[in-house]
Amino acid sequence: MDTALLNIDLHCHSTVSDGQLLPADVARRAHDNGVDVWALTDHDEVGGQAEAGRTAREVGMRFITGVEISVTWAGQTVHIVGLNFDPADAVLNDGLRATRAGRGERARRMGERLAALGIPGAYEGALTFVGNPELISRTHFARYLVAAGYCSNVQTVFDKYLHDGGPGHEPMQWATLEQAVSWIRGAGGRAVVAHPGRYKYTPTQFYALFDEFIQLGGEGVEVVTGSHSPEDARKYAGEARRYGLLASRGSDFHSERDSRVDLGMLPMLPPDLRPVWHDWL
Ligand code: AMP
Ligand code: MN
Ligand code: MN
Ligand code: MN
Repeated sequence: MDTALLNIDLHCHSTVSDGQLLPADVARRAHDNGVDVWALTDHDEVGGQAEAGRTAREVGMRFITGVEISVTWAGQTVHIVGLNFDPADAVLNDGLRATRAGRGERARRMGERLAALGIPGAYEGALTFVGNPELISRTHFARYLVAAGYCSNVQTVFDKYLHDGGPGHEPMQWATLEQAVSWIRGAGGRAVVAHPGRYKYTPTQFYALFDEFIQLGGEGVEVVTGSHSPEDARKYAGEARRYGLLASRGSDFHSERDSRVDLGMLPMLPPDLRPVWHDWL
């Protein structure tokens, strides 16, 4: 099937991770925005997939299973999106559970860091924004700090306190790149490097990352995403060509309030790139 004219959005979040809409409401919003093919990619968690798939079917939208796995590579966090896998796969589920496991303790430590910076009660405050007790993230802290009046918006919280290496950030040892790619592939899916424009690697490190990712069986890279500027999209379209990677497109929508890009509201992929969905539809 020629998919060039379809609106395909393969990256977004629900209350199962750090989004603010229930999986069913993300599905309805995607459909209302004109999305034809959709994946929900919650962080380290597939608990929303059944509801997302059910609602997508109800509204007549093609659903692709998804997840966004947190990985530590060369001391920095990289996100690997998995697409079109079996969400019941036991090894994948065990791996995701292990990846989520340290989040509670890390959140308590971030609460202590923020308290030392004059912001008491942030852990308890963040908890009131959490939809899934196993998935407390920096985004929940950011929402609390905005609600409590410490910052005017979520981006400012990240800029001041919670960015990688920031005074309120507590680093984590996430999954390895090898684990993430093997869990996704083992469950029958395709692995994609999410929003490469966000990582602070040197050109040499980027080369090594893509090289290792491809050696491990990784197949795709996000080119058009809500996290990329037009310049980033051009750059990573070039990298997709250079490395022979499949290209993906996704808004990374989290909520009406915090997201720069709404579901489906993105430029199309450059037509010469082979999309990650080329043999799925
Ligand atoms: P965590 O998994 O707890 O480290 O939180 C990562 C999440 O925080 C990402 O998925 C984004 O939703 C959000 N995030 C990370 N960096 C930023 C940033 N600079 N601005 C806004 N949100 C961010
Ligand atoms: Mn997020
Ligand atoms: Mn991400
Ligand atoms: Mn994301």
